[in-house]
Amino acid sequence: MLDQKTLVLNRSWRAIHVTTVRRALALLYQNAAKVVSPDTFEMHDFESWADFARRRGADCIRTVTLKIPIPEVIVLKGYDGVPVRRVSFSRRNIYKRDNYTCQYCGTRRASEELSIDHVVPRSRGGRMSWTNCVLACLRCNVKKGNRTLAEAGMHLIRTPTRPDWAPYLELTLGYRRQSWEKFISDRYWDTELVE
Ligand SMILES: [Zn+2]
Repeated sequence: MLDQKTLVLNRSWRAIHVTTVRRALALLYQNAAKVVSPDTFEMHDFESWADFARRRGADCIRTVTLKIPIPEVIVLKGYDGVPVRRVSFSRRNIYKRDNYTCQYCGTRRASEELSIDHVVPRSRGGRMSWTNCVLACLRCNVKKGNRTLAEAGMHLIRTPTRPDWAPYLELTLGYRRQSWEKFISDRYWDTELVE
């Protein structure tokens, strides 16, 4: 249970991190964070959380001296920033950045009809990078082949760059508790629309 996950909000209630229940309880115990009740948005410190959730019969962690419910969401008391982390360079994120759209002809496709194209071909020293990888539909991929843009007489609809999404967007990829939805979904949808 101590290795389960807790969502961490900064002081402005912006989701910034996922941590373990163990670490969340430590922050709570040190009075560095409060638990947020996902239903009511009430905030609790260590003592009142134990009381509150015990009354509701929530899942509890039991030690010799202590019985405390799992904090699913905590809010930090002192930290109002957003940690700077880079968006990971992954297949999934390239698809997301390019919005399932061929960057040569501009048509939107299902993921299986798209592949990742190296703008400067690897055989010409092109790298696996945010600025050299774009989505291409099968037709455009075949048409371009192992040529440069100039050689193929093709153009990109947009210059590829590293996305500047909030990194916690990647929370949406892995394990999520139901109770987290209301804390991350707004931000998730906002971010998705950024070009
Ligand atoms: Zn295309």
